[in-house]
Amino acid sequence: MMFKRSLRQIVVIGFVLALVAGNSALLFVALDRMIQASSWVKHSLGVQKDLASLHVLLVSAETAERGYLLTSDTTQLAPYHQAIYGFSERIDRLRAAFNDNPVQAERFSEVARLSRERLARLASVIQLHSDGDPRAAIDQVRQNDGSAIMTRVRAMIAEIEAEEAILLEERQRQNLWAQLGLYASAIVFIFGSLALITYVYMSLRMQLRERTAAAASSATYAETLDESLKALEHERNEIAQINDGSNFLQSCNSMAEVAALSAEFLKGLFPGYAGSVSVYAASRNQLLRLSTWGGSNDAEVFSPDACWGLRRGQPHARHHDKAGTPTCSHLGCGSDCDTICVPLIAHGETLGLLTLARLDPVEAALNDIELAKGLPDRRRVEMVARQLGLTLANLRLRETLAEQSIRDPLTNSFNRRYLEVIAGKEIAQAARFERSLAFVMLDVDHFKRFNDLHGHAAGDAALIAVAGSLQDNIREGDWLFRLGGEEFVLVLREVTRQDALEKVEQLRAGIADLTLSYAGGTLPRITVSMGVALFPDNGAELDELLVVADRALYASKSSGRNRVTLASANEETPVAIAADRAA
Ligand code: GH3
Ligand code: MG
Ligand code: MG
Repeated sequence: MMFKRSLRQIVVIGFVLALVAGNSALLFVALDRMIQASSWVKHSLGVQKDLASLHVLLVSAETAERGYLLTSDTTQLAPYHQAIYGFSERIDRLRAAFNDNPVQAERFSEVARLSRERLARLASVIQLHSDGDPRAAIDQVRQNDGSAIMTRVRAMIAEIEAEEAILLEERQRQNLWAQLGLYASAIVFIFGSLALITYVYMSLRMQLRERTAAAASSATYAETLDESLKALEHERNEIAQINDGSNFLQSCNSMAEVAALSAEFLKGLFPGYAGSVSVYAASRNQLLRLSTWGGSNDAEVFSPDACWGLRRGQPHARHHDKAGTPTCSHLGCGSDCDTICVPLIAHGETLGLLTLARLDPVEAALNDIELAKGLPDRRRVEMVARQLGLTLANLRLRETLAEQSIRDPLTNSFNRRYLEVIAGKEIAQAARFERSLAFVMLDVDHFKRFNDLHGHAAGDAALIAVAGSLQDNIREGDWLFRLGGEEFVLVLREVTRQDALEKVEQLRAGIADLTLSYAGGTLPRITVSMGVALFPDNGAELDELLVVADRALYASKSSGRNRVTLASANEETPVAIAADRAA
C-alpha cells in the first residue's frame, strides 16, 4: 500500500518536473527567437536610418557646395565637412549590415560608389573655387551632372529601402510570433509551476494529515493497550483471588465449612451484590440454602423448578427493567432487582445453585459499598460457579469415600473398624449419662451348608437380607456392624436387660420369618443365633463386652441355634433364654 502510493507520487512528480523542464526549454527557445527577431527588426530599422542619413549627408554636402560657390564663405562648407566626416562611418556600417544579403550588398556597393563619386566631384569643385578660380568651379559643376548621380543614388536607396521594408515586415511578424510563443510558454510555465507547487502542497498536506492521523491512532492504540493491560492486570488479580478462594474451598472438610467460607469468598469477589449458595438435598427433589450474604433473602428450601437457571441447565440473568425474562420464585428480592442464577455443575452433574442480586442503592449506601453497574461479568461468575461446583463435588466425593471406608460394601452395614470408633464413643456417652448399652453378637446358622447347597451368590443375597431386616428393625441411633463372614454386631442404645431381650428376640424372629427371593425362586429360610452382653453389667470395654456376647452366642449355638442368649450379669455364666423355634 505504502509502496504503491510512493511509486505514484514519484511518477506524478516526475511528470510535473518533465512538464516544467519542457516548458523552460520552450520558454528559452521562444525568448531566444524573440531576441533574434527583435535584433533583426532593430537591424532593419538601423539600415533604414543609416540609408536616410547617408542621403541627408549627400544632400547637405551638395547644399554646402552651392552655398560656398555663391558666397565664397568657407563657413558654408561646415555641412560638407560633416558629410565627409560621417560618410565613411555610415558606409562601413551599412556594408557590414548587408553582409548576409548579397542582393542588398550589391545594391549598396553601387550606392557607395555613386556617393563617393559625387563627393569626389564636390571636392574638386570646392578645390577649384578655393584656388581662386570660381569660373572653372562653375564649369565643373555644370559638367558634373550631379543631379543624375543623385537621382540614381535615390533610386538605389529606394530599392534598398523597399527590400528592407519587406524584410522588416517579415521580421516584425516573426517578432510577433516569437512574442506570442514567449507568452504561451510563459503561461504554460506558470501554470505548470503552479500545478507542481499545488501538488507538492497537497501531498505535503496529505502526508501531514496522515502523520497526524497515524500519531492520533498510535496514541489511541497506546491508550487501548494501556487499558487492555490494566484490564489484564485486573483480571489477573481477580483470577488470583478466585484461585485463592477456590483453594480454601477445596480444602473444606464439611458443608458447614463450605457455607461459612463461600459467603465470605463471594462477598469479597462481588462486593456490590447480595447472594446465596444452595445445594441439592440427597433426595434431589429440593435445594437447601447453604449460605447467604449481603442481606439476601433467598428461599431456604425450594424446588429445582423454582429456578429458571436450574430448569434450563444454564445461567439465568435478569435485568429488572427488561421485560420478557421470567423471575425465579426462590429469589428473595423478587422482580425489582438485577439477578443471575448460575447452576453449580461438576462432572456433568448439577450439585447446587449460585445466585447474585445487585444491591439496591439504599442497601449499598448503608453498607458503604460502591453501587454496582448492572450484573457482574458473566465469565467471572461462571468461573466462580465452576469452582463452587468442583468444591461441592469434591466434598461429596470425600463423604462418599469416608462412607465407603466405614461401611461394608456387601450389606452396607458399618464395618468392624467403625465399630471400634463408635463403640468407644457410645460407651463413653452411656457411662456419662449412666445409661446401658446392649452389644449383640449374631451369627448365621449353618451358613457353610447354605452356601454349599445354594451357591455363594445366594449366600450373599441371604446376608444382604439379614442385614436389611436388622437395619429396618432397629431404632434410629442404634448401630449395625458386620464383623466379617456371616457375623454381625448390634449396638442398641438405652436398653434395660428386659428391653434388650425383647428387642433381640424380635430381630431373631424377623430373620427367621424372612422370605428369601433369589434368581426367580425362593431360598429356604435361614436362622441366626445371637448372644447379648450389656454395658456396664458385662464389661466396660468393647473387647470385654464382645467376648461375653460371643460366649453367649456360643451358648445359643450349642444349645441348638436360632436362639438368643443373654449374658447374665455374671459374665462367666451366660444363660440361653430363647429356644430354637426352628427345631
Ligand atoms: P454355624 O451354624 O456353626 O455357624 O455353622 P456355619 O456353617 O455357619 O459356620 P462356619 O463358620 O463353619 O461357616 C461360615 C461360612 O460362612 C463359611 C463361609 O463360606 C461363609 N461365608 C463367610 N463370609 C461369606 C460371605 O461374605 N458370603 C457368603 N456367601 N458366604 C460367606
Ligand atoms: Mg460364623
Ligand atoms: Mg455360622
